[in-house]
Amino acid sequence: MTLTAGVLAVQGDVSEHAEAIERAAAAHGEDAVVHEIRHAGTVPECDVLLMPGGESTTISKTIAEEGIDEEIIAHVAAGKPVLATCAGLIVASRDAGDERVPTLDLLDVTVERNAFGRQRDSFQAPLDVAGLDAPFPAVFIRAPVIADVGDGVDVLASWDGRPVAVRDGPVVGTSFHPELTEDSRIHDLAFFEGTPAERDAAAADD
Ligand code: GLN
Repeated sequence: MTLTAGVLAVQGDVSEHAEAIERAAAAHGEDAVVHEIRHAGTVPECDVLLMPGGESTTISKTIAEEGIDEEIIAHVAAGKPVLATCAGLIVASRDAGDERVPTLDLLDVTVERNAFGRQRDSFQAPLDVAGLDAPFPAVFIRAPVIADVGDGVDVLASWDGRPVAVRDGPVVGTSFHPELTEDSRIHDLAFFEGTPAERDAAAADD
C-alpha cells in the first residue's frame, strides 16, 4: 500500500518530517508519497497530514490566506489523521490565548505559547509516552504548554506535571519536535493503527 501524506510547508522541518513519515511507513512495509502543502488543493488528496513547528502567527495567517485552513478542518471531520507538533499544535488547538493566532479547534485543548521557553529556551528530555515501550527523546524548542485538556482528550505524555502529547480522535498533538531525531515512533503512533508496543506484542504472539 502507498500512504499519501501531506506536510504543511509554510515553515519548519518539512524534509525531516517527510523522512520520518517514510521511515514509519517502511516499518509497516508501506511506501509513502509526501506532498508539500503550500496552496489549497493538495490536502484533499492526502490520507494523513502533518502540521510542523515554526511560528504559529505566520502559519495561521498563511493557511487562512491560502484557504488551507478549511481543507484541514474538513480532513479531520472526515476522521483522517493529523500530527500537529509545536507551533502546529498551537494552530490545531481550541484556543492559544493570543489574538494573533486564530486556531482551527481540531484538538480540544488550550495552549500557552512559549511557556516552557520562559524557563529554558530549549531542552531534550526522555519522555514516557503511552503506547511506546521505551522513552522517546523529545526535543522542546520554545515549546507551548498544554494548559487545559477537554474530556475526550487522552494525555499520552507529560513533562514537569504538564501534558506535552495528547490525542483527540484522529489528531495527535505534541509540544515537542519528534522529527529532530531518527526515532519515528511518534509519526508511527499518529498515522498507523495500534501503537508500536501493541504491534510488537501481536507479532510476538504470532
Ligand atoms: N514559539 C513558537 C510559537 O509560538 C513555537 C515554537 C516551535 O514551533 N518550535 O509559534
